[in-house]
Amino acid sequence: MKLVLMGLPGAGKGTQAEQIVSKYNIPHISTGDMFRAAIKNGTALGLKAKSFMDEGNLVPDEVTNGIVRERLAEPDAKDGFLLDGFPRTVEQAEELEAILSELGTELDAVINIEVEKDVLIKRLTGRWICPTCGRTYHELYNPPKTAGVCDDDGSKLYQREDDKKETVENRLNVNLKQTQPLLDFYTEKGKLASVNGEQEIQSVFQDVDKILTSF
Ligand SMILES: [Zn+2]
Repeated sequence: MKLVLMGLPGAGKGTQAEQIVSKYNIPHISTGDMFRAAIKNGTALGLKAKSFMDEGNLVPDEVTNGIVRERLAEPDAKDGFLLDGFPRTVEQAEELEAILSELGTELDAVINIEVEKDVLIKRLTGRWICPTCGRTYHELYNPPKTAGVCDDDGSKLYQREDDKKETVENRLNVNLKQTQPLLDFYTEKGKLASVNGEQEIQSVFQDVDKILTSF
């Protein structure tokens, strides 16, 4: 089972990834983990990546692609993997096709967890924090008894910059713009399988599972 998992921030990608790798017993290969491992192991590419990151620069594609190539060639990824956070661009997707073809294999599917932007905004902006006791609330999932006020001490709740609507909306727009060409790429390849992410977590997983068991 060779998969790429896609989904915007707030779509529930992390939760689905956990369930997929646990049921299908394949490694969860996230870009972040991959970089950390390459750096920790002191591989040539890891050190190269680190030198860019230390200077606050983006790691160039050739380094990222090299790290992905090394990771996918490891024995535990031979029979399957779940890639998460890679590819981010069509260029990287093309490189992934080349890497897999060198390894004599190809992707089975690209799972995209679809959630409307308005719903994502509600999920991502709903967090409020109490400045006095630090307790966190969520407008949808665990609202305070009185809107905007801490249940425990009556303090007025506040939002972090990252949780404010404007910040969230900007972040989503950047992501949407970046993601659309990738979705088109995989649609053309006949690899894209979209799942409705606006359901209970377990229902989303059942839909993912239906796709995966159809191979
Ligand atoms: Zn409080």
